[in-house]
Amino acid sequence: MTTTVTTAPARTRRLTGFQPTGQLHLGNLLGALRPLIAAQDTTESIALIADLHAMTMEHDPSSVRRLTLDQATVMLAAGVDPERTPIVVQSQIREHTELHYLLECVAAHGEAARMIQFKEKSAGGGPIRLSLLTYPVLMAADILLYDTTQVPVGEDQNQHLELARTLATRFNTRYGETFTVPEGVRPDSAARVMDLAEPTMKMGKSTGTGRIALLDPPEAIRRTIARAATDRAGLVRRDRENQPGVTNLIDILAELTGRQPADPTSYSALKREVTDAIEALLTPIRARHAELSANPDFVRGVLAAGAAKVRPIAAATVGRARSGIGLLD
Ligand code: AMP
Repeated sequence: MTTTVTTAPARTRRLTGFQPTGQLHLGNLLGALRPLIAAQDTTESIALIADLHAMTMEHDPSSVRRLTLDQATVMLAAGVDPERTPIVVQSQIREHTELHYLLECVAAHGEAARMIQFKEKSAGGGPIRLSLLTYPVLMAADILLYDTTQVPVGEDQNQHLELARTLATRFNTRYGETFTVPEGVRPDSAARVMDLAEPTMKMGKSTGTGRIALLDPPEAIRRTIARAATDRAGLVRRDRENQPGVTNLIDILAELTGRQPADPTSYSALKREVTDAIEALLTPIRARHAELSANPDFVRGVLAAGAAKVRPIAAATVGRARSGIGLLD
């Protein structure tokens, strides 16, 4: 007698996280949101607003709350479809913190203390929150909670993803098969947007002055691009080492329009093209955001629905972890 074994196609689930430490910017849109939106037909994704992560440094409670709601609104305005991609606020799923603790019981102090981001962020002096040290373990919990198979990561998060993989494997070995071990992926369309004023640095929510927030008014955007750092070469060409500012502008233009700059010698023409392309991208997002902001209850409803959708997955994972590690039902 022959037995036919049919294997179900491997399920793909992606988790993309955003910290509500500032307004979402062009880097978040091109590097994370657009790839997420582009993959909505083919890949199951969860968009996580990681509000607990926004508290590892000095923070203002009312601004974390405001930014959490606003980031959700911007995600919807940019085209995240909550029917296909649940938008989830981390703190509204209590299992994140429960799993965080259980994972701390398989993580070593030295593993957390050697994280480059911890070393960098704690180097500035002043009191260091314990949560800054344990943040990568919470990030591991975020990822493992949802049986995530893929995590889009930039280079600066590679070390944290490696820790999540290490903790998942260690837990599985010690306490029985509990977690899916995730892979890091770099979505095809993900761009790395550099700061316009300091183009050797990544555009970030709190670093640099050359940032374009997605809700900046057109005049502010025009000014930021007009002031963008260039150089004295007078040639519009990609040369990341010697012309990082010009290269960044060319890359942004290519990402937005698929086009190369029309004039190979004029920085002001390049800046005009980039300004127009960004304006064309952001105008509809701004308009949709204004509509949605008039109805915060709708956005809160989307978050409640997102939480309801993923809660059973989180509860099942924590159930397995609790039972494996020796807790009573
Ligand atoms: P964060 O702003 O650090 O909360 O990151 C949210 C998401 O946006 C992550 O997937 C980051 O990798 C991505 N991201 C943040 N800044 C940039 C940037 N300048 N260029 C491309 N992607 C970025």
